[in-house]
Amino acid sequence: MLIDTHAHLNFAAFKDDFAETIKRSFDSDTWMINVGSQFSTSQKAVEIASQYKKDVYAAIGLHPIHLETQKRKEVIDEKEEFEFTSREEIFDPENYRKLAKNPKVVAIGEVGLDYFHNKDNKEKQKDVFRQQIQLAAELDLPLIVHCREANADVIEILKEAKKIYKEKLRGVIHCFSGGLPEAKEYIALDFLLGFNGIITFARDYDRVLLEIGLEHAVVETDCPYLTPPPHRGQRNEPAYVRYVAEKIAQIKGITLAEVEKATTENAKKLFNL
Ligand SMILES: [Zn+2]
Repeated sequence: MLIDTHAHLNFAAFKDDFAETIKRSFDSDTWMINVGSQFSTSQKAVEIASQYKKDVYAAIGLHPIHLETQKRKEVIDEKEEFEFTSREEIFDPENYRKLAKNPKVVAIGEVGLDYFHNKDNKEKQKDVFRQQIQLAAELDLPLIVHCREANADVIEILKEAKKIYKEKLRGVIHCFSGGLPEAKEYIALDFLLGFNGIITFARDYDRVLLEIGLEHAVVETDCPYLTPPPHRGQRNEPAYVRYVAEKIAQIKGITLAEVEKATTENAKKLFNL
C-alpha cells in the first residue's frame, strides 16, 4: 500500500471525475491527501475527504502564489506546459481554523515561499508563511511546505520557528528540489522530503536519494501535474505514485515492497493517519 501525500483532486482538472479517479487509486491500493492552495480549494479538499470513511484526507492552507492575482504559464519540459491564473487572497487564520475542525484535516499546506513565480513580494510571502506555521503549531498539525527557488529563506524561517515551537514544528518539504546540504538541513528540522514524478524525468535526484535514509522520505504525485512515465504527457493521478516508488527502489537498489513499507509508515506517522 502507498500513500500519495500530495494530490490535487480538489482542483478543476478533476471536477468531473474525482470519484472515478479515487476509485482507480483504491484499486491500486493507494491512499491520498488532497492539498489546498487557497481557501476555496482547501474547502473542496475537505468536502472530498468527508465523502470517504478513510483513505482520503485533506490539507488546508494558502499557497504563496495566491497572495497576488497573476496569470502564469509554466513550462516543465517539452511534454508538459500549462497556464494558470492565481487569485489574490488575504490570509485569514480564523477561516482556516474553523475548517481545521474537520477530523479529515491532517496538515496545514500547502504553504511556503515561491520566488520562481514572484520575487517582488518576498516579505509578504514570509509573513503569511510565518502566520501559517503559527497556526499549524497552535493546532498541533504538520506542515506541507511548498518551496520554489527559496530554500535558504525557508530553512531560515523554519529554524526560527523550531526555537519557538520545538517538537510541534514538523512536516514535509513537498516536491523537494534542493541538494544534499539542504536535504540534511530539513531532516535536522524534523521534516520529511517529498519526492514525485520529477525524479523519474527531470534533474538528477539520485545522489540525495542514495544518501538519505528511507525513514526521511515520502512519495507524492502533485497530480494533475508532473506525470511520471509511461504516462508522461497525460494528466497525473494518485495511482501513478507507484512509478515514483519504483524509481526510488531502483535508485537505492532495494525492493518496491521496502519503499512502500517505509514511505507509508512515514506518512502515517507524520499525518497521524
Ligand atoms: Zn501542490
